[in-house]
Amino acid sequence: MNHVIPPAPQPAVPVADSGDSFPVRRIYCVGRNYAAHAREMGSDPTREPPFFFCKPADAVVPVAHGITKEVAYPSETVNYHHEVELVVAIGKRGSNIAIANALEYVWGYAVGFDMTRRDLQFALRDKGRPWELGKAFDQSAPISPIVPASSGGHPAHGRIWLTVNGTTKQEGDLADLIWSVPETIAHLSKYFELFPGDLIFTGTPEGVGPVLRGDVITGGVEGLGELSIRIA
Ligand code: MN
Repeated sequence: MNHVIPPAPQPAVPVADSGDSFPVRRIYCVGRNYAAHAREMGSDPTREPPFFFCKPADAVVPVAHGITKEVAYPSETVNYHHEVELVVAIGKRGSNIAIANALEYVWGYAVGFDMTRRDLQFALRDKGRPWELGKAFDQSAPISPIVPASSGGHPAHGRIWLTVNGTTKQEGDLADLIWSVPETIAHLSKYFELFPGDLIFTGTPEGVGPVLRGDVITGGVEGLGELSIRIA
């Protein structure tokens, strides 16, 4: 049977130091997973269960090491924000995954930006509406090459940071995640069966803020490298 329209290209993220790529199936994101960021968003960072939202797989913008990739300033916002995050790449199918086994499901890790139309996100949030217009738009998920866990291990601590035009805006440590990577996988897999190709953006530390056309945003996680974009 023929497709009646050409199938969309498979979104994929390069694997670091290799000619290979990691095909993306879904993008899950954790909200408010660092206490100081939860406070700056107006929330009480108690250890209530993590909550999740999604971006479409084709929101990824792969950014190779050593280059600055142009990303378009999105439409219908005047408050476009950066959020730097540790990204988990899932390599094994599973649901109801136990915390103790969760790292077996991780193929690798990357650095990602959960780019956000903050004005729309807050307006939707305050009306109890879904967040898609604020979070799930085109090019909203720039991401570095993926470092395989088989070579880079499973980072549980290490510096996570972001600069705008060379000025540090976000700085934290993976050890400050309210819900660790294994705990996040355990929670998420109660609601969705995870498959190879799924990405999980694990949340951002404090210091989120607006960016403008022409700004260069660079972010990194210790041991995983960094990525840079320029807002066009
Ligand atoms: Mn985020």
